[in-house]
Order: sequence, then structure tokens, then C-alpha cells
Amino acid sequence: MAIPRPARPGLRFGLFVLLVALFASLGGALAYLAPPTEGRELSVDELVALAAERRVEVATFLDEDGQVTGRWRATPLPGPGSEAQPFFALPADPAAAPDGEGTYRVAYAGSDSTNALLVQALAQGGARVEIDPQPIKGAVRLLATVLLPLLILANLFGLLFLLARGGGGGLGEIRSFGTLGERGGTAVEPPAVRFTDVAGADEAVAELAEVVAYLTDPDRYAALGASPPKGVLLFGPPGTGKTLIARATAGEAGVPFFSVAGAEFVESLVGVGAARVRDLFARVRAAAPAILFIDEIDAAGRRRGSGDASGGSDEREQTLNQLLVEIDGFDVASGIVVMGATNRPDILDPALLRPGRFDRHVTIDQPDANGRSRILTLHATGKPLADDVDLEMVARRTPGFTGADLANVVNEAALLAVRDGRAQVRMTDLTEAVQRVLSGPQRRGRLLTEGERRRIATHEAGHAILAAATGHLEAVQRISVVARGRGLGSVQLGSDRDAVLFTRSQLADQLATALSGRAAEELLFGEPSTGSDADLEHATDLARDLVARHGMSERLGRVRLMAPESDLFLGGAAALNRISALTHQQLDAEVRRLVEEAFERATTILEARRPLLTRLVDQLLADETLEGAELGRLLAPATDDPAPLSGPGSGRGPRPSPQGQPAAR
Ligand code: ADP
Ligand code: MG
Ligand code: ZN
Repeated sequence: MAIPRPARPGLRFGLFVLLVALFASLGGALAYLAPPTEGRELSVDELVALAAERRVEVATFLDEDGQVTGRWRATPLPGPGSEAQPFFALPADPAAAPDGEGTYRVAYAGSDSTNALLVQALAQGGARVEIDPQPIKGAVRLLATVLLPLLILANLFGLLFLLARGGGGGLGEIRSFGTLGERGGTAVEPPAVRFTDVAGADEAVAELAEVVAYLTDPDRYAALGASPPKGVLLFGPPGTGKTLIARATAGEAGVPFFSVAGAEFVESLVGVGAARVRDLFARVRAAAPAILFIDEIDAAGRRRGSGDASGGSDEREQTLNQLLVEIDGFDVASGIVVMGATNRPDILDPALLRPGRFDRHVTIDQPDANGRSRILTLHATGKPLADDVDLEMVARRTPGFTGADLANVVNEAALLAVRDGRAQVRMTDLTEAVQRVLSGPQRRGRLLTEGERRRIATHEAGHAILAAATGHLEAVQRISVVARGRGLGSVQLGSDRDAVLFTRSQLADQLATALSGRAAEELLFGEPSTGSDADLEHATDLARDLVARHGMSERLGRVRLMAPESDLFLGGAAALNRISALTHQQLDAEVRRLVEEAFERATTILEARRPLLTRLVDQLLADETLEGAELGRLLAPATDDPAPLSGPGSGRGPRPSPQGQPAAR
């Protein structure tokens, strides 16, 4: 596909040639301007002395050079001697006159009157005096000293300007967007990648199906007046296949794929970033329908106004603005989708995420056991595997591995087989490859230990059971021990968030649920970990709101202790300074009591369901993610009266002996 490109390289080359030509002519002119060098160099005194002895034959005054050239002879010229000495004369010192004969040159830079005297002295000595005004040399001097430098400067500025616009990569467009085509020359062709090349990211693929639908038929959206997906942000840790999925989206839709790194937008020269964005979008528009993929978009779309030490924030702001302007400019029929990828969604400028811009967000998590197994299978196709290879087992052993890590594992294993001269990949190759990838330089971070994983599973299972036990079973949508964003694991609670009102008992349930992760950890491990910082913060805020904002504590009464909403911007400390020190103390005590009480309650509830808790932990460790019907089935017993759950024979006791735990599956 031919993409129109500005004709800058040609212009740049022309300017460069012109610059060389200008320098060459300047050099030529300067050489031409140099005064003659033949003949012996005499001083003015010597010349005057020679003239007094009538030994100067010819004297040519070169006006431009400020030199007199000519011949002198060994014997005086014939002719009348000088009788009448002029009133003013240059003093002649006979001892100064050189012997012999030859050609001479004399630099004279005297005043006009001295020159006149020199001419007079020479003429009286019988010399043939000539004056050469050198008009051509005068013109050349003017050219070389005034015009040429001006031209060279102008040319230089023009060239620098073009280079800057083109990306500062030196002559010949080394790093400009023109190189998009250069990355294989086919970079704008629809990629050959399909969704079938992506495994274990079904949610993301499903969400991107709409993008494909739009790109294959933009007019249908236009006809219906439906707003198309303009901007899609892919969130996910490195190596989870964001780039792969973006390429596959273009491949599925059969549209050109433009790819650029966010950092490429932000260059050190002012205004260049914005110019590049404009440039790029012009090219994408010409190729529409198309996908523009901006990798690591956080480099260009960092939150504005967040001071950064590099001082380049101004430039970035312009770039970001230009990006937003371009995206805003798309209409339904334009058939352009901008996709961005980042692993730091938290630092993105909120302006980027507003409706009509990057308003579709697709999260790509690290794959769970099932996903890993499918990714391994995908990358193993075409590689002959020995019978003992169990990819499921490899998948189970590699929690925390991303798609890129797994692709690496399969490749390393194949390399090991090749090194051994074998025709098949064995299980030992794969296990060795896992170790290599684990210790390899590409892997950032580290794997969790088995103990850490069990603790995280316990924490999350605690949250889920408490939510179910307090009557919010349907709200629990998903439990996962796969790291998501900052969190180590997660429990996804739905529905409650949409509620308009909360009763006191609902808030109490929330409080207990927030603390239940920590409660579960303390219950099964005997001590807490740092994994519940965020939970504690949330619980404390909730309890404080309950008391000071909603007036729901019996001890402090139905009083609003917090400053009105309008004053809250003054900050937390100011928000409470209307109340007395005593009330403040009581408030603190009450918050603490509520939190402690909720924690006790969570512990009691979990203790009564200890077998369920351990069962859930084991299931979580095996599957990593639980959701849907299976999760509902597993959690259902949590809503029952705890008595039948205490285990056979133990009766209704909240504290079954630790040995009473069912064996791990
Ligand atoms: P990211 O852009 O998120 O850092 P990439 O798309 O560059 O990750 O992934 C690098 C490579 O890892 C891909 O080219 C592919 O071979 C492999 N890979 C990553 N995720 C997957 C996946 N879900 N399915 C198949 N292969 C994957
Ligand atoms: Mg990438
Ligand atoms: Zn938690």
C-alpha cells in the first residue's frame, strides 16, 4: 500500500548539496582574493630608496590587494636626475636599497597622502607607474565577505529546521516516521497474525471483536449513527501479548497496522512531538480503515502537570494535546482505531481516558493455569514432542509466567533438544527451560514461593467466604490469585457498587468483609502479613465514615462530626477540627472499636467455616482463578448455618482442631 509521504527527503538533500556548493565557492573566492605572492617582498622604505637611486623600472599599484608590484634593476635608469626636490618627500635612506635586480612586491597600507607621496617618489625616480583598480576583485570581495556567508547561514538554518522536523536523526531520514514503512516495508500491510495466534486471553479477544467488526465495515456504524470504538487501551504487564493482540486485531480486520512507540513522540526539540503526531495521523488517514498502535503510551500520555525531573513536560504536553486533537477529529466514517498499550494505567493523563478518546479499556492479565497450558500448546505446535511431555504439568509449574515467558520456555526447550542432537523435545528439556527462563535476564520480578501463594489464596478466599456468608453470594464474581495491577490477588465483588443507599448492617458487612482477608491469614497462619495494608486503610475509612459522616454509632450518636462536604477539600486534619478534643478521642476510640469488632466477627465466621476455607484455598491454588457456576457451587456452603460445616463428628464447635483440616487435593 502506497502511503503518501511529504517530499522532505528530496528537499533536504537539495539543501545539503547547495550548502556544499556555497562552501566551495566561498573557498574559491577566498583563494582568488589572496594577494599575489611572486617576487621578493620589500618594505616601503626599501622601495623608496630604490626609487631615489632611479633603479625602479615598473610599479603597478594593485588597489584591492593594497600592494605594489614591479621590477627593480641593478643600475640606475638613464635620464635626467632629479633637480627639484618637492617640498614634501619621503625620506630615502640609500643604505636600505637592496642590491641586484628582480621582481618585488610591497604591501602598502598607508593613508592616501602617503600613497600619493609614494607615487611621486617613484615617478621622480623614472619608474613607469601604473594603477590597477582591480574592479572584479572588488566585486568578488564583496561577495565573499557579505553575500556568501549570509547565504550559507540561511541554508544552514533551513537544513537544521528540516532535520529537526524529521526527527533529528541526521541526514537521510534515519529515524523519522518514514521508517514506519522501513520496518520491513510491509509494516503497514495487514499483519498475518490472527486471533487464533493468541491464547489464554479470551476476554480481551472478545472485546476486540467489536473493533474488528467496525473496521471491516465502518459505513454500517455511520449508517446507524452508532459511535464506533475510537480508542482502545490495552492494560497489562509486559509480555502478556498486548502488541500481539493489537496486531491480531488488524490482521483479523484485514487493515493496515501502524505501530509507533510512545517515546518516539516525545523528542528533545520543541514542537517536534506534536508535528510528528500530525504527520503520522495524516498518513494513517490516507490508509484508512487502519489501526494505529501506540506502544507504551504512558511515555507520551503521562499525567499532565505531574512534575518530572527531565523538564520535558512542556513538550510532552504539546504532544499529548496534539494526540487528543487528532483523536477528537475522527468521525464515525473515518475507519481509524487508535490502540494504546501500557502497563502503567495509573499514570495516564485522565484527559486521554475521557469518552470519545481512549474510552475502551481492555485488561490483559497474566494467564492462569488453563491459559498457560493453551499458550504452551500454541507455541509447541510444529515442534515434535516426546510422549512424556505433559504441557498441563508445565503450565501448573509456571504460575506468574506471561505469554512471552512461555513462548520463551518452549523455544529454550527446543534449543536444548537441538543441542543434544535429538529430534524430539522431552519433558526434561521443558523443566530445564523453565529454570532458564526463571533465572534469565528478560524476566522482571520473581516468582512467588509456594508459601506466599498459599497465603494470598487464603486471604482472597477469606474475602469471598465472608461476602457469601453475610448474604452477598451473588456479588462474588471472581476470585483470583493471579496478580492484577498492584494487587497480589483479587476478589471481584459486583452489584453493591451500584447501590444508592446502604443500611448500617450493610456497612457492617462491608467492614467485616474488608477485614476478612487478614482474618483468614491470621486464622490459618497464626500471624498477619503486609498483604492487607490496603484492606486496613479501606476498613478504617469506612469505620470513620460510619461514625463521623453518617452518625451511625450508638456511642457518639446521630451527629455529623466531619466538616460539611464543601469544607472537605481543606484536607483530613482540617475536616475534623470543629470538634472538641474529647470528642476527637471518643471518635478515634469508636473507630477502633468498630474495626476490632468487625475483625472479630470475620474471624468467628471464618472459624466456623474452616473446612470450606481450606477447601477453597486448595481449589484456588490449583485453578488460580475461580468464577461463574463453579465458584457459586464452591461458595454455596458458606451461606449455610455453619453447624454442618464444622466437619463430621466435631459437632457445633467454632474451633475445629488444626489436624481436622481436610487433606489438600
Ligand atoms: P507485550 O506487548 O504485552 O509486552 P508481546 O505482545 O510483545 O507482549 O508478547 C511477546 C510475545 O510473547 C508474543 O510475540 C508471543 O509470541 C508471546 N505471547 C504473549 N502473550 C501471548 C498469548 N496470550 N498467546 C500467545 N503468545 C503470546
Ligand atoms: Mg509490547
Ligand atoms: Zn484483601
